[in-house]
Amino acid sequence: MSNKTFNTAPPNPETFMELLHRIEAKWQKAWEKAKIFEAEPDPKRKKCFVTFPYSYANGPVHVGHAFTATRVDAYARFKLMQGYNVLFPWAWHWTGQTIAGASERVKLGDEEFTRALREIDGVQKADLEKFVDPVYMASYYTNENRQTVRRAGFSIDWRREFHTTMPEFSKFVEWQYKRLREKGYVVKGTHPVVWCPHCESPTGDHDRQEGEGVAPEEYILMKFKYGDAYLPAATFRPETIYGVTNIWLNPDADYVEAEVDEEKWVISEAAANKLKEQKRKIIAVRRFKGKELIGRTATNPIVKQKLPILPAWFVGADHATGVVYSVPAHAPADWLALKDLQQVPNSLREFGVDPAMVKDIMPISMISVEGFGEYPAIEVVDQLGVKDQCDPKAEEATKLLYKKEFHGGVLKENCGEYAGKAVREVKETLSNYLKEKNIADTMYDLPQPVICRCLTPCIVKVLKEQWFLKYSDPAWKDQTKEALSQAEICPETATPWFMSTIDWLKDWPCARKSGLGTPLPWNKEWIIETLSDSTIYMAFYTINKHIKQHRITAQQLVPEVFDYVFYGKGSLDTGCA
Ligand SMILES: [Zn+2]
Repeated sequence: MSNKTFNTAPPNPETFMELLHRIEAKWQKAWEKAKIFEAEPDPKRKKCFVTFPYSYANGPVHVGHAFTATRVDAYARFKLMQGYNVLFPWAWHWTGQTIAGASERVKLGDEEFTRALREIDGVQKADLEKFVDPVYMASYYTNENRQTVRRAGFSIDWRREFHTTMPEFSKFVEWQYKRLREKGYVVKGTHPVVWCPHCESPTGDHDRQEGEGVAPEEYILMKFKYGDAYLPAATFRPETIYGVTNIWLNPDADYVEAEVDEEKWVISEAAANKLKEQKRKIIAVRRFKGKELIGRTATNPIVKQKLPILPAWFVGADHATGVVYSVPAHAPADWLALKDLQQVPNSLREFGVDPAMVKDIMPISMISVEGFGEYPAIEVVDQLGVKDQCDPKAEEATKLLYKKEFHGGVLKENCGEYAGKAVREVKETLSNYLKEKNIADTMYDLPQPVICRCLTPCIVKVLKEQWFLKYSDPAWKDQTKEALSQAEICPETATPWFMSTIDWLKDWPCARKSGLGTPLPWNKEWIIETLSDSTIYMAFYTINKHIKQHRITAQQLVPEVFDYVFYGKGSLDTGCA
């Protein structure tokens, strides 16, 4: 026990938090001074490299970053204590539409957004005005966020820090693209892509405000004869052509009669605009509301029976062609819309249609599937208690039945030459046959909305002669799987996800017209897309320290330098010194 008494002035009042901050700062300074997180080559210790996916500098780092980075940091420190030579570097993602889009929103005076920047992020007016320049915005948040990450005390080797539009990093990306192209992995092709009409660019996953993971889908358009024109109805289920009872149009939506290539089509106005972007020649001849056609008839191209055109409000004019064919025995939404009309037949009178037209419409059963009777759609609707065509549960019913019938359905005897065949087996042959006979056509659309970071709704565009990463290449897929098999994945159960993604990936548009980033080395008007320039960035950490320390300029970083460092090709004497 000490004899010391406390009858002098009491110690400074200090809150618990202040005390913690003081201790924090003391040790952070000590770590920095001792350089314990600065990894240098050391033959005596085993190497351990950890990485955290660099964050976009379009806003403050938040608790989500803390959540993930803290685990990385805990692991790094644990390995360090175990005696490993640990490298934990950090960088900032500037490329792509993310920052450019945020800056664009400031420029356009998006009030909700700028209020959030002022009130939540605490951005001062003078800085906010300069956010119209995406580079300023990115450097502002890089500086802010660096302070936050430093104060969090992560065990980072800051000597390796960079951001992704630094000229030296651009040289690294250029090198990667030059070599990929030489190997035949960057190719020109014609493919459908998700497209922002405002940015005039493909909209990659990270360039999206909404709709991550949504890809263009090909719809079969079944062409129902209507006078000297066609009503092309969009479907993923061409086999259901044997069960059609009527056509649906949205009476309130805008439709057009249009010349599409050599034919006359009746489609929604939105569909006509979309098809223009898909290499189709479209001339809209006449515009009208859907209700004009209600009560008329069209002809089934296979079975040849006459089908009434009826009103349905579940039909979205902005979805595919805005024309739907009705299969009430097997499509819950069709059954619901038909039931709505049959229960309130007088609703047809406002279209000048005799209610008797719908009274006798009976669903046509044409698929047998285990666990269901004659009319699976009716059963599913009853089981889930779906009220009407506007009930959100209708979609759940549709998905459920689609899956069941696709995997276990068999076509009944009223399906012509396809009778007795499994739905799954006929789908492709039937679509090909229908396309060959000019009974069906195709169009691309997005199954769910995609919104660009600039807040423009995206569409599908067929890009001709555009640059793609050839992810479809089977040999490249095999090599990737081979590489994956050498990796230890934790948890092991995640391995099949990687495998199926490798199988699923198709050619990937790898360049865009707007945003920050590295221009394509051989076609400078295009900028390398943000996911493509951030795949192997971890390798750059290993050399960036030296680039900075020795003041190596971007001009000096010719492709041969990277070949030498990463492939061991060439020698120091032949031009790399
Ligand atoms: Zn855009």
